[in-house]
Amino acid sequence: MSLTFSRRMERVRPSAIRDLLAHGADPRLISFGGGYPDQRLFPVAELRSVFDSVLSDATGSAALQYTTSEGLPALRAAIADRLAAKGTPTAADDVLIVQGGQQGLDLVGKLMLDAGDTVIVEDPTFLGALIALNPFEPQYATVRIDDEGMDVEHLETVLARHPETKMIYTVPDFHNPTGVTMSLARRTRLIELANQHDLLILEDTPYRELRYDGEHLPTLRSLDTEGRVVHLGSYSKILAPGMRLGWVIADPDVLARLTLLKLAADTQSSTLNMSAILAYTQQYDLDAHIERLVDAYRIKRDLMLATIDDTFPAGIERTTPSGGLFTWLTFPEGFDSTAFMKDVALPEARVAYVPGASFFAVDVKTNHARINFSGLSEDDIVDGISRLGALLTTHLK
Ligand code: PMP
Repeated sequence: MSLTFSRRMERVRPSAIRDLLAHGADPRLISFGGGYPDQRLFPVAELRSVFDSVLSDATGSAALQYTTSEGLPALRAAIADRLAAKGTPTAADDVLIVQGGQQGLDLVGKLMLDAGDTVIVEDPTFLGALIALNPFEPQYATVRIDDEGMDVEHLETVLARHPETKMIYTVPDFHNPTGVTMSLARRTRLIELANQHDLLILEDTPYRELRYDGEHLPTLRSLDTEGRVVHLGSYSKILAPGMRLGWVIADPDVLARLTLLKLAADTQSSTLNMSAILAYTQQYDLDAHIERLVDAYRIKRDLMLATIDDTFPAGIERTTPSGGLFTWLTFPEGFDSTAFMKDVALPEARVAYVPGASFFAVDVKTNHARINFSGLSEDDIVDGISRLGALLTTHLK
């Protein structure tokens, strides 16, 4: 048999992170890879009780029935109210409920991109966004990112070189993989540039509510006056990724088209899971739950950064994330973090991280790593980082 697969499959590749998670089976491994929330903090008992109430005689049949492609109307309203209360004016009609932010990336890719179209992404950017957009065969242009997020001056240069650009993808809050946050001045400038060049901005915010210090900054969506920002959010990091629920916020014209694509992809998100999350938000206090997460993750972040500072040799830089789940390491030029993990960190210390190479859309840089601090216990953070620090001290001599 010789099947001819579609041309887009040439751009569909296994993910380095998925490969790495396969090592997760080794109980001695301490993995700073993945982006897992701490499952010890999932509200399991509350969700069990919520599913029980949703499946009661009164509401059970409706929770098991089809609903509209946009999602359960009452949950759309709850998401809109929550966003509006936190500074992003949103109406229930602006909300499309999707199976996690990842589906939002796929639908927006389908909405906007023909083969060869240009998408601007941060350098580095979220690997999952590249995985979602690659099948649409775009070309990528990259913009530098530093401690204040996307470098908008560089963006101007890149736009001059790529006037054909259709959209900009950004993770403004606690960026994956670097952990940095875009400053207010840059947010404002980004919107101005998108207006000037008539671009769609895809704002991806799964970590937004996990802020450990400093003040929340306005969303790009709240700064947008022309309806060109499509905003993605998710319950994955604030409740449970296994629920597979997130939201897309967009103006009516864009939202109607995305809803047609949602219908084509999977008809709707799970009525049962939408009903359960709605009931959770009615019967429990989601904000109080997020506060507990923030308190726990802040401790882990502090511990990870302090252990890096105590045990890593000179010459390795790290970011200081004020939220989210990751810090980003920069090793000296010429260091190959993929080879180091495979040949040294895994066999000698049973420690894994995500080599930075997979996060670069165009020019791959080998001297970076993304490390996650949310998924591990405090003991494992200290133990794993110290083991890594000792190995790096030996190898970087
Ligand atoms: N965007 C970013 C930046 C992410 O880091 C993730 C998950 N790691 C997602 C989107 C997708 O998450 P989910 O589909 O679980 O909402």
